[in-house]
Amino acid sequence: MAVVSPLDLLDLDALLTDEERDVRALARRVVDDRVRPYVADWYERGEVPVRDLSLEFGKLGLLGMHLTGYGCAGASAVAYGLACLELEAADSGVRSLVSVQGSLAMYAIWKYGSEEQKQRWLPGMAAGELIGCFGLTEPDHGSDPANMATRARRDGDDWVLTGGKMWITNAPVADVAVIWARTDEGVAGFAVPTSTEGFTAREVKLKLSLRASATGEITLDDVRVPESARLPTARGLKAPLSCLTEARFGIVWGALGAARDCLETAIAYAGTREQFGRPIAGFQLTQAKLADMTLELQKGYLLALHLGRRHDAVGLRPEQVSVGKLNNVREAIKIARQCRTILGANGISGEYPVLRHANNLESVLTYEGTSEIHQLVIGQKLTGLSAFAG
Ligand SMILES: Cc1cc2nc3c(=O)[nH]c(=O)nc-3n(C[C@H](O)[C@H](O)[C@H](O)COP(=O)(O)OP(=O)(O)OC[C@H]3O[C@@H](n4cnc5c(N)ncnc54)[C@H](O)[C@@H]3O)c2cc1C
Repeated sequence: MAVVSPLDLLDLDALLTDEERDVRALARRVVDDRVRPYVADWYERGEVPVRDLSLEFGKLGLLGMHLTGYGCAGASAVAYGLACLELEAADSGVRSLVSVQGSLAMYAIWKYGSEEQKQRWLPGMAAGELIGCFGLTEPDHGSDPANMATRARRDGDDWVLTGGKMWITNAPVADVAVIWARTDEGVAGFAVPTSTEGFTAREVKLKLSLRASATGEITLDDVRVPESARLPTARGLKAPLSCLTEARFGIVWGALGAARDCLETAIAYAGTREQFGRPIAGFQLTQAKLADMTLELQKGYLLALHLGRRHDAVGLRPEQVSVGKLNNVREAIKIARQCRTILGANGISGEYPVLRHANNLESVLTYEGTSEIHQLVIGQKLTGLSAFAG
């Protein structure tokens, strides 16, 4: 009997354009050639060749691909989402590299930067020659960035930044850091060259999740930058939050990639693994698991595609992206853990991608707004009452 892959059951490909399928094929190819054969080893060593991958992704137009001008590809939101899905099917850390570069660091400069800042940074970042990071979270301020401790004070024509940022993806290898700091006029953003005196980024060690990703702790010790480093139109916290909305959209798709990879792995494994004299895929309990996971994967995909089409047509409201991130990451992690059970002891081995995906999704569940925060965003919209504080 013919076997159908989980995302083909409903012929969902019929909902994509030829161009979207082409972008997906391109992302799949680079992932198959440059990531899949090596990623388990990167994960085990806790090291990833960010520069090599950036150059490779840059060549293919995957960095800042949904932005226009300055060397960016100007692809649709759906095409960008499909690329995120394929990247994360290999590893969430690799998708994070691309998301942070394109949707956080590049987007912040593209949306809020001066023409000079855009010319200086964006073409090199789109090509993968320059790497960016986005520093909002601090050791003591994660879900509540409004209370950030990092300060920028004016000193003549310059700004002097003091404070620290924590859990910053790409920071240990970045050329430019978009740093959010409190000023007398509210939160402001700065495009800080990481070579500036007083700027240091230390690799965060002992991570048990997202190990194929460079994560850093940034210290800002009287970092002096000129006024021309300030993102001129970024006023208040809504500026970094708008960047997060962009990046979360990529996660809505990306998480499905991790889930798909787990499910495909589990189906293949169950088809060949025999217990009690027959393939475990033939047991009803296994099939019930596979069927239920496939339903969630496809529902998540339809949700992502709906959000993508709305994004391309009219843009998305933050609470709409919260629906997508909350649902798709939560379901993806459930799928990864369920698939893990199907692989038995092999499920905990790095020979298979399943527990690596599950562990990675623990980070994805937390970053770019925890599940609880997205529940509160949706709850606020439904009730008109904010439950965030007090
Ligand atoms: C691998 C990794 C990479 C990251 N990359 C970046 C990056 O590139 N740039 C960046 O700026 N940040 C980054 N982050 C940080 C991430 O965005 C934060 O970890 C996240 O926002 C949560 O903050 P926190 O860890 O301080 O948790 P906390 O805010 O301390 O939350 C702890 C728990 O309390 C809950 N909670 C908090 N407030 C409320 C409330 N009002 N009601 C109910 N529950 C609440 C949370 O949901 C969570 O369960 C990264 C994190 C990780 C793990």
